[in-house]
Amino acid sequence: MGRVKQELKELIVSTGVEMIKTGITVGTWGNISYRDPETDYMYISPSGMDYMKVKTDHVVVMDLDLNIIEGEAEPSIEKHMHVAVYKARPDAHAVIHTHPTFSTVFGVAGLPLPAVSEDFVQIVGEEIAIASPYALPGTPELGEVAVKGLGKNGAVLLPGHGALIAAANMPMALKISTVLEKNAQIYLYAKLLGNGIRLFSREEIDAMQNFAKNHYGKKNQELV
Ligand SMILES: [Zn+2]
Repeated sequence: MGRVKQELKELIVSTGVEMIKTGITVGTWGNISYRDPETDYMYISPSGMDYMKVKTDHVVVMDLDLNIIEGEAEPSIEKHMHVAVYKARPDAHAVIHTHPTFSTVFGVAGLPLPAVSEDFVQIVGEEIAIASPYALPGTPELGEVAVKGLGKNGAVLLPGHGALIAAANMPMALKISTVLEKNAQIYLYAKLLGNGIRLFSREEIDAMQNFAKNHYGKKNQELV
């Protein structure tokens, strides 16, 4: 049996606080998990608890067959969805599910969310798909449709529900979560102005993604 790590429980707790602070989810909704690359154990937030009151003892440690390794609390009801992502995406180690207001509008309207801001293009992609068909929360079916909609991307919209974000690490998952919501808000406000929406060309998207991958902050990252 692999070692359970206190620092990864702390990561779940601090990410929950961050999620509330940045306003990307409301109340006790949404959930967070991290897969330890060493043991493949999933550290997941507890079900229905105030993020500001969650302590490391409430974080549940499970294997990818959903057997509990450690923890007394009830794990998030979306554990099926988190595990489904980890099984389909070996590159993903952090999964965040949010209930954001503006991004959810697109899932409700049945419209994929196009990229209208540069940060979105750089770290999320050209467009975010909608998982389909609708599946009830907490069901293994939701995990299946979410993974299908996610594909190789960093995010997918869950119709009438929220968003699912997958990334290589927790800071990137949080960044995608906030940029996704910001992009949705910008798009909707621009629509209200009624003067049309400027979408990026294929060339602009390729150039921005290439820049983000190879140049942006690279020198500074090497200094850390
Ligand atoms: Zn949810």
